[in-house]
Amino acid sequence: MSVMYKSTRNSNEVMTASEAILKGLSDDGGLYVPDNIPALGVDLNKLADMDYRQVAFEVMSRMLTDFTEDELKHCIDSAYDDKFDTPLIAPLVNKAGANYLELFHGSTIAFKDMALSILPYLLVTSAKKNKVTNEIVILTATSGDTGKAALAGFADVPGTKIIVFYPKNGVSPIQEKQMVTQKGDNTYVVGIIGNFDDAQTGVKNMFNDKNLLGDMNNKGYQFSSANSINIGRLVPQMVYYVYAYTRLVKNGQIKAGDKINVVVPTGNFGNILAAYYAKEMGLPIAKFICASNENKVLYDFFETGSYDKNREFILTSSPSMDILISSNLERLIYRIAGDDAAKNNDLMNGLNSTGKYEITPEMKAKLSEFYGNYATEAETAATIKRVYESDGYIMDTHTAVAATVYEKYKADSNDDTPTVIASTASPYKFTRSVMEAIDKSYASQSDFELVDELNKLSGVKIPQAIEDIRSAAVLHDTVCDKSEMEATVRNILGL
Ligand SMILES: *Cc1c(COP(=O)(O)O)cnc(C)c1O
Repeated sequence: MSVMYKSTRNSNEVMTASEAILKGLSDDGGLYVPDNIPALGVDLNKLADMDYRQVAFEVMSRMLTDFTEDELKHCIDSAYDDKFDTPLIAPLVNKAGANYLELFHGSTIAFKDMALSILPYLLVTSAKKNKVTNEIVILTATSGDTGKAALAGFADVPGTKIIVFYPKNGVSPIQEKQMVTQKGDNTYVVGIIGNFDDAQTGVKNMFNDKNLLGDMNNKGYQFSSANSINIGRLVPQMVYYVYAYTRLVKNGQIKAGDKINVVVPTGNFGNILAAYYAKEMGLPIAKFICASNENKVLYDFFETGSYDKNREFILTSSPSMDILISSNLERLIYRIAGDDAAKNNDLMNGLNSTGKYEITPEMKAKLSEFYGNYATEAETAATIKRVYESDGYIMDTHTAVAATVYEKYKADSNDDTPTVIASTASPYKFTRSVMEAIDKSYASQSDFELVDELNKLSGVKIPQAIEDIRSAAVLHDTVCDKSEMEATVRNILGL
């Protein structure tokens, strides 16, 4: 059965998967959503015997129906190789009463690698399939992790350039160092004076700027997006939920068909939405536990049905979740509105003009599988310390937000369904926050001293990504105001 992609804001715009991957965002500002989600149609016991790549093929071939088997297998095999530091790709680790799905074994040590190691292959394949001759310019806003993962994925990929905007004062020192040391003649990294939402809004505006798009086309360029709004990121993220579930089957923790819960530390709502789509494909998931940090706009939304971004933007120790506009939530809104683009459009117009919207009681009733809660900074740090002391397992700050919310969920519900917690970053990516959570006295040490201390405490090998930046030269030092993003892009492309 073939799957076509429609805009959440206009049901007349219909695309194939490869067209939707190329475009990223629809011209009307909407996001592409599948017009149906086919059943997985493979026995979960059979999937339990497959490796990550085989599971990836089963899941992705259901969704990207205009890719041939050879094309898709080429993309999958090129992405999930020894760039990952374990052949398991995404190991499931049972600690402290939960299953941590470690999604950070790729080359930039955050979960963004799961999708961004395959997106360049999907995109280049899509360009070929659609006879695109323009050079593709990947334009991306990042709260820290997407930027590096996209840069690593696209560096020196022929026929592409990549421009990344990040909030100059809103990412961790290691995140920034990772980005500004990126090699590759086609890579550009720009710090903006503004926060992540400013960066994301600036990028969205450029995607919709007819003048800019025209000038680019004249020069032989066209934009595409590596942000989590691209369905070429969402679909690969469905894979690891199926993989995790079937590992629980394989190791006897559950039987095929049993339900599980998932806990996802959430920012732009891409990761948890992928879990929701995996359920629609037939994966037995009972609850989607949406974990926020102190930027708890999603918690408030699930509590009240009212989404309101008019509030203070808080910089936390989990910067990849410091987001007030969770873009991918639009896809869920569209779904609970009954796939009604006009209804969704009204709500999103409200978000644009007043920064808020309210869903109807009928829509809210369709959110019963979701549970939202949040963790304060102090709670997040306490969780890192507690699990280290009880189990010797050291998690990063984002994962600790999820683990904290999971404890709150259990206390609220007494639900003991087997649970998978998405572990989204290596503790080495947020070393300072992690080490200070364990012991305040680490505050006096340098970032790389802390890396060595973390290695001693955890016994986990220092990832190559960290070794690489110890001595790497800074190659990117452009900084601009949030109002100058378009001028910066024009300058880079010579428009
Ligand atoms: C991006 C990111 C998140 C949030 O994921 P979304 O898909 O944006 O909800 C959480 N943790 C880490 C480490 C991330 O990099």
